[in-house]
Amino acid sequence: MSKPKLALYWAASCGGCEIAVLDIEEKILEVDANFEIVFWPCVMDPKYKDVQAMPDKSIDLCLFNGGIRTSENKKMAELLREKSQVLVAFGSCAHEGCIPGLANLYSKDSLFKRVYKETPTTENSDGVYPQPVTKVPEGELEIPEFQEKLVPLSAVVPVDYTIPGCPPQPHQIWAVLEHIIQGKALPPQGSVLGAGLKTCCDECPRTREEKKIKRFYRPHEIIPNETQCLLDQGIVCCGPATRSGCGGLCVKVGIPCRGCYGAAPESPDQGAKMMAALSSVIDSQDPDEIEQIVNSVADPVGTFYRFSLAGSMLGRNRK
Ligand code: SF4
Ligand code: SF4
Ligand code: SF4
Repeated sequence: MSKPKLALYWAASCGGCEIAVLDIEEKILEVDANFEIVFWPCVMDPKYKDVQAMPDKSIDLCLFNGGIRTSENKKMAELLREKSQVLVAFGSCAHEGCIPGLANLYSKDSLFKRVYKETPTTENSDGVYPQPVTKVPEGELEIPEFQEKLVPLSAVVPVDYTIPGCPPQPHQIWAVLEHIIQGKALPPQGSVLGAGLKTCCDECPRTREEKKIKRFYRPHEIIPNETQCLLDQGIVCCGPATRSGCGGLCVKVGIPCRGCYGAAPESPDQGAKMMAALSSVIDSQDPDEIEQIVNSVADPVGTFYRFSLAGSMLGRNRK
């Protein structure tokens, strides 16, 4: 009997999600035993035409990591959607844009100006920008077109499931793959797999009390008490706004949750939820003091929307 076909793809992302698949360690052998891996550019050398030649819906499961930033990302998302029965937004970049989505704070023009003209190591006195098509004596060279903003995978094609995390934790990746290998029924389309239905706070072993905050700290500014909630200590921890599933990895070792499992189930806009959470713990009625306390949060957008700006209600800088 032929094995189900598995594809993995890497769009606008760092590649960490591909490594996370290998982090399931020896279980990767079970993946190999139970799936025919038909497309995985990180570890094999297929061409576009190989995917184009596949019959529609012939890939049983496609784990797509990365957001959609270039014309190539979009084309591959559309192609893999056409060829796959089940398309999964795998990891935070595909789910909500993640770190590459923070580039949505800037326009394409300002990003190009910075990268191709202003960076200290760039020599570009003619101010040349990459062009999608360049004529050379031999013909035309094409490179993917950089689009105005990054969007999550679900903004360009229908997505069947999401596995959140930056990257998804290996035990969660294996839980999903094992479920499929064992032939168990999948939950309704649109479900989030490999994660919980609560918040990171619900997985956190730290003790919470009533919070009264006079100043917020970044992790390097304070040595946290080992058992008390980090937010109670004034350290900005995104646990209240973040979906459970990682097992509270960071908070267990004294590092605040940065929010990589994405928006919590009941609060689809992670940044808005986090701002609400912080505003409720500020210990002051005086507008000037409140402003001072709020200003102690360094890089608010990068803190509240680090993983989810592109997928949030704002989506990008609206100025
Ligand atoms: S989700 Fe995180 S680990 Fe995965 S590709 Fe994006 S930035 Fe890298
Ligand atoms: S805010 Fe952070 S440290 Fe506090 S309970 Fe939630 S996850 Fe734990
Ligand atoms: S604690 Fe937060 S940042 Fe750390 S792995 Fe879990 S969800 Fe991600």
